[in-house]
Amino acid sequence: MSRLTHQEILNWLRETDPAMLEKLFAQADEVRRTHVGDEVHLRGLIEISNHCVRQCHYCGLRAARTQPRYRMTHDEVLACVHQAELLGFGSVVLQGGEDFGITADWMARVIRAIKAETELAVTLSLGERLPHELLSWREAGADRYLLRFETSDPALYAAIHPLRGATPSDRVGQLRLMREMGYEIGSGVMAGIPGQTYEMLARDIELFEELDLDMVGIGPFLAHPETPLGANDVVTAGSDQVPSNEWMVLKTVALTRIVCPEANLPATTALATINTVDGREHGLESGGNVFMPILTPSPYREMYQIYPGKACIDEDATQCNTCMRGRIDRLGRLVGEGPGGRFTRKTQQREQTRNADARWKPTAEPVKKVSPELNVLQ
Ligand code: SAH
Repeated sequence: MSRLTHQEILNWLRETDPAMLEKLFAQADEVRRTHVGDEVHLRGLIEISNHCVRQCHYCGLRAARTQPRYRMTHDEVLACVHQAELLGFGSVVLQGGEDFGITADWMARVIRAIKAETELAVTLSLGERLPHELLSWREAGADRYLLRFETSDPALYAAIHPLRGATPSDRVGQLRLMREMGYEIGSGVMAGIPGQTYEMLARDIELFEELDLDMVGIGPFLAHPETPLGANDVVTAGSDQVPSNEWMVLKTVALTRIVCPEANLPATTALATINTVDGREHGLESGGNVFMPILTPSPYREMYQIYPGKACIDEDATQCNTCMRGRIDRLGRLVGEGPGGRFTRKTQQREQTRNADARWKPTAEPVKKVSPELNVLQ
């Protein structure tokens, strides 16, 4: 049963009175404390490739952009992973563009090496991939997968995500499939994407709840001038357009905490980008319980610009770690120990069912085929 009605979510999203909003944030903070406690988990973010076959209208990694591209080697990724361990993190997130130069076998070898050499939980965030690839990564030991559905509105989704040939795009379908495979699943949206109405954002929040997400990432849309949605004359939803600002993000985080009380919610880098002073703190005070310090080494770090002006771009991993721990400390919160997954009765039940025999198996050969040209280095 929904903890908030559609109308209540909508009213909160439209609320602008700071005194009222303080009440919403306080309620979300209380739900956070009750369900996931005071620990703030640190996930080391390793941006393993900026190659991408997609043309997402908002993203600086889109294939059409001419820019230097990189793909980290096995050893480079493992070096970052060991640094995560040294810094005391419980998990790493391996993120990249949708890059079929990252083959299923290469990725599985990296995951196996991480699992053999460390105790870290492994989260992947590599876009839409084929079912047999996702399964092989799960079997290699990957624990979690992040894939934002970006918007629950089919028309807006289609308008900003051009199809890659005849390949269908079904992010929600992939999330459901990954859950069947035993992944913890994470998704999310950007607040303020041009064309996004309050109604749509309210339905996004309801979809987080319906999918019973284990993780939800929410950040502001940040216009990248070299993308279609970064153009000056971009079409918006007029008076119904959700603005891209810190309040909007904090309201969305708070409402998400209330409808998904057990989920892990990061205070995102994008939030820190619109408020470099204390955006991260505000995220933690409105329902958030996760930070994702960037571990990507230079010069790759500067080359992974999904949007311009990204926070923390001038810092190295050690500086990011010190900065984040200081912020957690000053709020009187604790740094989380261990992998920090979502362990609840519900997930334990799911585990037991899976172990019994309901494990996901491919029913037939994968339907989608990767065309050979996508496998060549770009
Ligand atoms: N290729 C992966 C990772 C994409 S980057 C995937 O498709 O899942 C991670 C997230 O950054 C995206 O899901 C998107 O929500 C966010 N993002 C991309 N461009 C952005 C922009 N211009 N402003 C804010 N967030 C952006």
